[in-house]
Amino acid sequence: MNDIKKIDAEKIAHTYGRFDLALKEGQGAIAKDFDGREYVDFTSGIGVTSLGYCDPDWVEAVSKQAARLQHTSNLFYTEPQVRLAEALTARTGMARVFFANSGAEANECAIKTARKYGNTRSGNIEHEIVTLENAFHGRTMATITATGQKVFHKDFYPFVEGFSYCKANDKDMLHALVTDKTCAIMMELVQGEGGVLVIDQDFVKEAETICREKDILLIIDEVQTGIGRTGTFFAYEQYGIHPDLVTFAKGIGGGLPLGGVLFNERTKDVLTYGDHGTTFGGNPVVCAGANVVMNKLDESFLQQVSSKGAYLREQLAAIPGVEDISGLGLMIGFRVAGRASADVVKDCMKKGLMMLTAKDKVRLLPPLTITKEEMDRGLAVLRSALG
Ligand SMILES: *Cc1c(COP(=O)(O)O)cnc(C)c1O
Repeated sequence: MNDIKKIDAEKIAHTYGRFDLALKEGQGAIAKDFDGREYVDFTSGIGVTSLGYCDPDWVEAVSKQAARLQHTSNLFYTEPQVRLAEALTARTGMARVFFANSGAEANECAIKTARKYGNTRSGNIEHEIVTLENAFHGRTMATITATGQKVFHKDFYPFVEGFSYCKANDKDMLHALVTDKTCAIMMELVQGEGGVLVIDQDFVKEAETICREKDILLIIDEVQTGIGRTGTFFAYEQYGIHPDLVTFAKGIGGGLPLGGVLFNERTKDVLTYGDHGTTFGGNPVVCAGANVVMNKLDESFLQQVSSKGAYLREQLAAIPGVEDISGLGLMIGFRVAGRASADVVKDCMKKGLMMLTAKDKVRLLPPLTITKEEMDRGLAVLRSALG
């Protein structure tokens, strides 16, 4: 472990403030370090290992595909990719999908689609995208611009043009920001990195109405909220809206890098041959794993995500000092009275529980498959750390 830390410090770019923990292996929601110490994982690699560590069906599908055909590029057809496209479109009623490798790339593709939609429709004038303050859409140049948080902007000027930021839930401001040049409104429904803040249904519905009236696109970033995380396959289902573009990533691959954009009838033909592409996107090994994730997330699985979320919330509410619980399903934020969230997370980690922060909140994104026993074990650590 000391060796790993030393090499990391010398040889890896210093962009990550890592926890003092190197993980060696895992099973379900339990990770182990190099000394064999166990940690209950309430992070799932920031919402990625949706089936927990090393789900046997996922491992089998990925290993078999790796041994059969690991990559071909998108110049050729592969079966796992089309199967996944079928599953995603059947599940959502969306028309088509583009596969990328990450959340930022998925959002880049949605942004390009929106710009082209606006530009082709009205002679290269409509190109602005309204996003929300406190949003998080990724780390590429366009997606940090879309991200309405100053901390991500400092030092990287000049930015991509054509973004404006609306205060979440401020309908008047949204109306004022939408102009003849607007081609899209883009938002998360629960701002994850922003502090696990659930956006009001009213506001989201109003955004949809504006989009329909003015023929502009509604882009929902489901990179963190999607793939069962909030108790429905996508969070937008709970809002009763029909987005034009839905971006996803994190949980879809079960631990391998995969993201994408779902297009509806209005947007499915906007991008055409030569407009967009990626070497790795929709790689067969990654898609084989994602197909296992898709197969497991049936209605009863999603019901369990909701009830596990409700259980965790109820247990958290009963812990003295825990306040301001927010989120949806197994995406949960809370504060601890009188304590910085980063300190709570560090204390718990030493005692065998992994959690995340989001701004001034503690954030939980446990694997969707977490058992009651694993939740109770994690909660016991939290209680003892706060007691
Ligand atoms: C994590 C995240 C992204 C960026 O995803 P990467 O895979 O890190 O590029 C974009 N949007 C949201 C809502 C996210 O949570």
